Amino acid sequence: MKKTIRDIDVAGKTVLVRVDFNVPLKDGKVADDTRIKEAVPTLAYLLGKGAKLVVMSHLGRPEGVDSKYSMKPVAKRLRELMNVNVVLANDVAGPDSVEKLKRLKSGILMLENLRFEAGEEACDEEFVSRLASLGDIYVNDAFGTAHRKHASTYGIASKLPNAIGLLMQNEVESINRALIHADRPFTAILGGAKVSDKLKMIYSLLDRVDNILIGGAMAYTFLKAQGYSVGISKIEPDMVTDASNILSRAHDMGVKIYLPCDHIIADSVTDPKKILHDKCTNIPDNMMGMDIGSRTIRQFRRVIKSSGTILWNGPMGIFETPSFAKGTKSICKAISKSHAYSIVGGGDSAAAVVKFGYAKGISHISTGGGASLKMFEGKELPAVSVIEDL
Ligand code: ADP
Ligand code: MG
Repeated sequence: MKKTIRDIDVAGKTVLVRVDFNVPLKDGKVADDTRIKEAVPTLAYLLGKGAKLVVMSHLGRPEGVDSKYSMKPVAKRLRELMNVNVVLANDVAGPDSVEKLKRLKSGILMLENLRFEAGEEACDEEFVSRLASLGDIYVNDAFGTAHRKHASTYGIASKLPNAIGLLMQNEVESINRALIHADRPFTAILGGAKVSDKLKMIYSLLDRVDNILIGGAMAYTFLKAQGYSVGISKIEPDMVTDASNILSRAHDMGVKIYLPCDHIIADSVTDPKKILHDKCTNIPDNMMGMDIGSRTIRQFRRVIKSSGTILWNGPMGIFETPSFAKGTKSICKAISKSHAYSIVGGGDSAAAVVKFGYAKGISHISTGGGASLKMFEGKELPAVSVIEDL
């Protein structure tokens, strides 16, 4: 068990809090403030216990100082959401940060974009020390970057007493509940664009789950490995051997893998002239698999209904296009109706659940794409492992 902010005394202290405020901007304003809202409980808790806060995050991928990536709109939104004093420094732990922190009586000092400093991603010792000198205690609540060994997520933890925040605690505990303490049967539903992105995750899940349902573009590489014709579906030729290995390993381990047995097919993604329900597993030449078909949906639904734990990563089809969204939508619905403990991870899968209105029926929707994938791979997150144990 890692120390959380509930285990430490912060009264009268300055707490450095790493948050994930990497939000989308539009016309100089925050276009989606979900990530800012999600950090509020931790910040409000610490302020309520009498701490002064130095809040830090990266935003986008600037190459050095670039006003387009300033934290200014984020500081403004945080001020509106929390209704507390939020002061923005003009630098990242430089003279302006030091000066403004000295003058801060209460509330929050927000540092400029961490990635304005090359030392952040390099986890540079000098930059780590400069950051650490601003506070008495370090708290990490940035789950979205917890798989990275950067100065603000990793290096700094060895310099100060530390703990994880409430968002990080919720993410790690929720995902571990599925991975380590799963109610059986444990079903993984995998899909999305590529097998190669998710190969390590699939191998690791084979050790943990009872069933794997495969849809999305990923399914066609597996069907190809089984000798079916896949037309011009998006497959990864380099991954066909791996797909074969996964299928035979699953067979040896008694893990059941379900692949699509029918499809929604079309002649083009961008400008489809023909969209058909293909009732057999083989896909004709010059046609692409775009979504799972109705027979596959029914089969997947039956497995979902009888599961005790469900982990879902990767859409079942090109759900962004309404003609190819039914598979993903039906799976969202089936998971939300099931009594299983359910986890959804991955940027596009989480977006699909929200878009189709099924978020309420999911036990936990992970906010971090890369970090949740690392956990599904069975790996410890560096930014969490470096935090003190209770
Ligand atoms: P996540 O972000 O949830 O991990 P991915 O990024 O791996 O998911 O995959 C999502 C993408 O996969 C979506 O943009 C979707 O359009 C695409 N996709 C799903 N099914 C297919 C398919 N049959 N052919 C091509 N692309 C697909
Ligand atoms: Mg994605």
